[in-house]
Amino acid sequence: MVAQEPNGELGSPSEQALQRLSELVRRVNSSADTTDVLEEIANGVHEVLGYGVAAISQLEGDALVMVAAAGPEDVRAQILGRRTKAVNILDEFRAADHWGILRYVPHGRMDPAHLDNIWTPDIEPSDDPEAWHPEDALYAPLYSATGELLGNMAVDLPPGLRLPSQAERELLEMFVVQAGLALSNAQQRERLARQVHLGAILREVAQSGSRVGLEAMLASATEAINRGFDAVRTWVSCARDRDGGPETSVAYPAGEVQPPTCEPLRADLLVTAWPAGLPVPVAVTDTEIPLLPTSLEKVQESLQEAGAGHGVVVPVGNGQEMFGYLGIGLREQQKPLRPDELDALTEVARELGRMVQSARLFETEQRLVSELRELDRYKGELIATISHELKTPLTTIIGHVELLEDQQVGGRSVQAIRRNANRLDRLIQNLLNYAQVQERRGSVRRRVDLVELADSAIELLSQQAESGGVEVSFDRPPGRVEATGDPDELGTVLNNLIGNAVKYTRAGGRVVVEVGLAEALVHVTVADNGIGISRVDRSHLFSTFHRSSNPEALSLPGTGLGLAISRRIAEGHGGRIEVDSTLGRGSTFRLVLPAPAT
Ligand code: ADP
Repeated sequence: MVAQEPNGELGSPSEQALQRLSELVRRVNSSADTTDVLEEIANGVHEVLGYGVAAISQLEGDALVMVAAAGPEDVRAQILGRRTKAVNILDEFRAADHWGILRYVPHGRMDPAHLDNIWTPDIEPSDDPEAWHPEDALYAPLYSATGELLGNMAVDLPPGLRLPSQAERELLEMFVVQAGLALSNAQQRERLARQVHLGAILREVAQSGSRVGLEAMLASATEAINRGFDAVRTWVSCARDRDGGPETSVAYPAGEVQPPTCEPLRADLLVTAWPAGLPVPVAVTDTEIPLLPTSLEKVQESLQEAGAGHGVVVPVGNGQEMFGYLGIGLREQQKPLRPDELDALTEVARELGRMVQSARLFETEQRLVSELRELDRYKGELIATISHELKTPLTTIIGHVELLEDQQVGGRSVQAIRRNANRLDRLIQNLLNYAQVQERRGSVRRRVDLVELADSAIELLSQQAESGGVEVSFDRPPGRVEATGDPDELGTVLNNLIGNAVKYTRAGGRVVVEVGLAEALVHVTVADNGIGISRVDRSHLFSTFHRSSNPEALSLPGTGLGLAISRRIAEGHGGRIEVDSTLGRGSTFRLVLPAPAT
């Protein structure tokens, strides 16, 4: 016969403790409210394990703060919320006996200075070595899985007022493990939430980079940083260009207080913080900060003016270069930024560095573009003036040559004058065209039939084609192919493209012109099987006065302006000119324009 366990055993203290424990395990793993869970653990230790007082503290910064307590109401009221420097408790642990994960500090061993800070029960000391002494302390440090101190459990008045037995300690340890887990879970949840939050700030700051202009970027970034870190003020000060030129300082909230100037703090951080890429936490009252006294004073002054008690400054730069710094001011009662927040702030400063860098590049680019425009305008003006000045005497020369020809005073010399005067005339006409295209913005815009324009150009060039022995054929589409633009300008482009094809094709060659429409684009394609253009020459084809290096091309009259003019016209119409050519085989030029909206 198997003896029946007495029923009372089910309700034994250890049985109850295990039952309570299993409930707690469920709670620890499911509950998000850490204080509630810690409260339940303390209650379990008090009610089930029979300790008169059980209290759990949590690490906040460098202090352990009592967050849960079980025991008489007046004792709870006394100890809840109490802050103890973590180092003091760690000191006590060093003096303690190790009972597994528990730390027992027998009376008399504790630093008397600490005794004032802790609650001591009102019981009579006894001579019995197994009796609990009012100045005995029993703790359990609560560590995370990675060994960080997260909190501490302290118990007092053990059951029967005697030093707990091995079995009692083991039960207590089980509760301690649950408290450690609850704090560990809370830490992980908090870290995760912070990471999500910091990631969101970083994303917002990065988005500010899409604004136009450095000030607008910084205004939007400082607002996001200020909100994200719940700061009183955030500012960025940086030098606007490389040579220590003008400075830009942007603060949020803008307020009446001007953000501090970039120098001398920039120069200081350049030596102190920039090489290591570290943020520098600054407190208004602290003098032990690794900054030069003058710059430290300025930062502290501006933190104070903004109503901040402390803050952080971080260098802002990109690559090797440091431009300035980011400063944030926090309220006195706000906790100093944690390491992961400081890391995020460093990342934010890097993002700002990228912004300043791209704004600087953009500004340089803008300056160059406007200088180039000015130069271009000047060039156009110069060309127009000179061409006009040349045109008048040349017209006179041509007039007189014609007179001489009429009077039959011909001869080779007059022919040579005539040929070269005509050449000069073409050049001047081209130059004038070029200057005109440059100047003419918003020229006449209307529906133009490219088929008709191609017809006229082919007609105009037919004589030249015939005498050069080049056959020009037109692959004519069935109807009109329209573009919107200036008919004269577009006519000039077709004359140039078809004219070049005829000119740079040997006798017996062929030029095919084609006009068409494809996917909202209209095009005129001029293909020849002429001398072709080398790869090197193709890359300069549209530069003014560029002529191919090919001697065969150079032997033909030309100014190197036709394609430059044509490209300008095409671009002025929202289009482009494409080229495909093989030296010795032929070339295809294509004018592509947007088809007009129907
Ligand atoms: P140009 O008055 O010299 O013809 P363009 O600007 O029209 O000036 O053309 C620039 C250069 O490009 C020409 O000098 C010629 O060398 C080359 N080129 C243009 N079109 C052709 C073509 N269809 N075939 C071969 N070379 C061409």
